[in-house]
Amino acid sequence: WRDRLKAGLSRTRAALTTPLGELFSRSRIDEALLDDLETTLLTADCGVDATQWLLDELKLTVKKNKLDSPSQLRQVLADRLMTLLAPLEQPLDVTAHKPFIVMIAGVNGAGKTTSIGKLAKHLQSQGKSVLLAAGDTFRAAAREQLKAWGERNGVAVIAQESGDPAAVVFDAISAARARNIDVVLADTAGRLPTQLHLMEEIAKVRRVIQKIDATGPHEVLLVLDASIGQNAVQQVKAFDQSIQVTGLVLTKLDGTAKGGVLAAIARQCPKPVRFIGVGEGIDDLQPFRAGEFVEALLT
Ligand code: GDP
Repeated sequence: WRDRLKAGLSRTRAALTTPLGELFSRSRIDEALLDDLETTLLTADCGVDATQWLLDELKLTVKKNKLDSPSQLRQVLADRLMTLLAPLEQPLDVTAHKPFIVMIAGVNGAGKTTSIGKLAKHLQSQGKSVLLAAGDTFRAAAREQLKAWGERNGVAVIAQESGDPAAVVFDAISAARARNIDVVLADTAGRLPTQLHLMEEIAKVRRVIQKIDATGPHEVLLVLDASIGQNAVQQVKAFDQSIQVTGLVLTKLDGTAKGGVLAAIARQCPKPVRFIGVGEGIDDLQPFRAGEFVEALLT
């Protein structure tokens, strides 16, 4: 899996204007190197704020410790990236409640449905029973996609032909209680933060869950397509405002040059990163591990 993560992040590396490896193999630390490093971090979509913070930290450390070798600089960069990202490494623990209710949100195409399938498999492999709620009542195709996936994998899917996502979720939680299920994964329709009536609707789904189970939802996962780069920051803030996001899934890290967006998220709207998606396959969902992520970025 270490190789898969590296392969997943390879485009981030490939797209860097000056590859990081080349930077750190130069003969000494000078202004040109720091300038190129700044450009490289911006290109990887670390964002202006995180890039500035990293550069300031690096310059300070270089001066204080009188560093002159780029390999030392690499070590300091790895260290500071860990300062940013390690706090986001908080694995999802579904044992505190039963059923443990997970609500999944995001814009269309972010990878919600795919991630739900992967997550269900991941939880099953840990011995948890799972039930899916087809809360995307806008697109019949989304409901069918979830049902087909459930049938293939022996996971029950609660769906309704039409109607209210809150009603579907209500049914699903009742069914999970009756069947002694460990985890409910509730899909929701894709929506943009600018579609205010839809943001209000998803806030209602959250309130309904809380009415059924005063301790829930136990996790509100926002699925983010990593390739949208800096827009991810705005999405986290907007969804957090309406549904109090408790965790992130960052998808499509295999297909993007923008893995650095996690540094921007860490600086501007930190949330636990529960999983990363590194491919379309059922096993291409991994718990986020900051050390591996940083190593893959810098290799
Ligand atoms: P939804 O609209 O949010 O439910 O998005 P879907 O789950 O339907 O995913 C949209 C597309 O992104 C599909 O073609 C998925 O196969 C693809 N996808 C989802 N996650 C990943 C990932 O981690 N890597 C890659 N390469 N593709 C992904």
